[in-house]
Amino acid sequence: MSENALDLLRRIFGHTGFRGEQAQIVEHVADGGDALVLMPTGGGKSLCYQLPALLREGCGLVVSPLIALMQDQVEALRQVGVRAAYLNSTLDAAAAAQVEQQLLTGELDLLYVAPERLLTGRFLSLLDRARIALFAIDEAHCVSQWGHDFRPEYRQLTVLHERWPDIPRIALTATADAPTRREIAERLALEDARQFVSSFDRPNLRYRVVHKDGAGVRQLLDFLAGHRGESGIVYAFSRKRVEAVAEQLQAAGIKALPYHAGMDAKLRAGNQRRFLQEDGVVMVATIAFGMGIDKPDVRFVAHVDLPKSIEGYYQETGRAGRDGEPAELWLSYGLGDMVNLRTMIQQGEAGEDRKRLELGKLDALLGYCESTQCRRQALLGWFGEPHAGACGNCDNCLEPPRSWDGTEAARKALSCVYRTGQRFGAGHLIDVLRGIATDKVKQYGHERLSTWTIGSDLDERQWRGVFRQLVAGGVLEADVEHHGALRLTALSGPVLRGERALMFRSEAAKPPRGRKSRGG
Ligand code: ADP
Ligand code: ZN
Repeated sequence: MSENALDLLRRIFGHTGFRGEQAQIVEHVADGGDALVLMPTGGGKSLCYQLPALLREGCGLVVSPLIALMQDQVEALRQVGVRAAYLNSTLDAAAAAQVEQQLLTGELDLLYVAPERLLTGRFLSLLDRARIALFAIDEAHCVSQWGHDFRPEYRQLTVLHERWPDIPRIALTATADAPTRREIAERLALEDARQFVSSFDRPNLRYRVVHKDGAGVRQLLDFLAGHRGESGIVYAFSRKRVEAVAEQLQAAGIKALPYHAGMDAKLRAGNQRRFLQEDGVVMVATIAFGMGIDKPDVRFVAHVDLPKSIEGYYQETGRAGRDGEPAELWLSYGLGDMVNLRTMIQQGEAGEDRKRLELGKLDALLGYCESTQCRRQALLGWFGEPHAGACGNCDNCLEPPRSWDGTEAARKALSCVYRTGQRFGAGHLIDVLRGIATDKVKQYGHERLSTWTIGSDLDERQWRGVFRQLVAGGVLEADVEHHGALRLTALSGPVLRGERALMFRSEAAKPPRGRKSRGG
């Protein structure tokens, strides 16, 4: 070893020093140890295998599921004089053969390979004849069946260990709560690997959650007004929503572009290029957008619909503020989102176990949304990382929410659900509670119910909050078969009977009229 890691870091990559645990990871792997690295997006995972590959003899093999990312990385490495190449489906036979030849003759420092290519018998026997410095398994969470990026081929990567037990392996991911972490270690036969878990805290990101107020894109425009001329991403639930929101933003004079998997590939790639190269483009996208996007100055990430899980949310928002400068995250959601997502999960093709797991993840996210606790503390807690709270950079810390005793309101709401036959959505139930004599109310004779007008002390917005929080807390559930009609659950009984008190987060700045928080 003629040079040490720090020299290489400075000379080749032009950085002054290591970040976080990079130095320890590089040293451990360069010495031949296995590693499992958990580091948030933007934390600097690439160097953790690139440097050891340069320090060790032979070529570092990097398994990566993302073709675009491979190409970017190889391009960047070549620019600083590292002998890097990739092998994936975009290469023709001649080009691929040339790369393979370079591998055999020791002319490569790093080779990026798609997993399906790596696992072919032909390629594995080729590796027998090459000198390999290490195996790096990027986006290691793809091995998890429960994650959203499951790649079956990742399961077979244990063959690397079986065939070449002496070559160090390093698996890296930005997405891993404790159960996923255990699964990665087990599935990749990395139980004995040293784990490097970085803090997932991103202090420069400001977290904010708002409730949909029914004014549609207006709410988003108000948020964007604070980010004029800045680059950002707006995530929406479906392709249709992406198109609609992009159009509405364009109509409001914002440089917004759509991105989703259903678009013409050329147009989509063009939009992505503009987002990366131009200033101030707002990308309106489904979650198809973003993996492997390395744009340092994304100033905000807005979700106009509820994401599917806390991990997903963390990953999507992790694309903001990679340059370390302040960036803002904004999430808006309403009762409709919960109903949509629950319906989608329940009507999906997945097996019962998987559905239960997804519903559980959704509940955890709803808990996060409704929480009055420091958002950062709640989020990091989900990843098993303790945080003292009071971060001073989330909505709950900046404008502490009020809570109010919603026990009585909850009883009225549940009673109204029951009296109307558990067949109606929140809109109609609120009309009945508030005594709004709509056609529908008259049609069903609901003005004759005992719950008619019993809720006139709260306004519509407050009632929406009540229903949303009841659904979020599992005290009511959406009936998938009946267009999201609300019905009682096992948790409803104790609330109806007044055995369980409920505290609600205030919708307005002031608690509802005539009600004071009793605390607790
Ligand atoms: P990840 O793969 O974890 O998302 P990357 O490896 O792409 O992160 O690194 C994110 C950014 O941080 C890149 O722009 C990279 O150049 C930069 N970076 C990584 N390590 C360092 C370091 N030690 N000093 C300065 N910048 C770094
Ligand atoms: Zn906070």
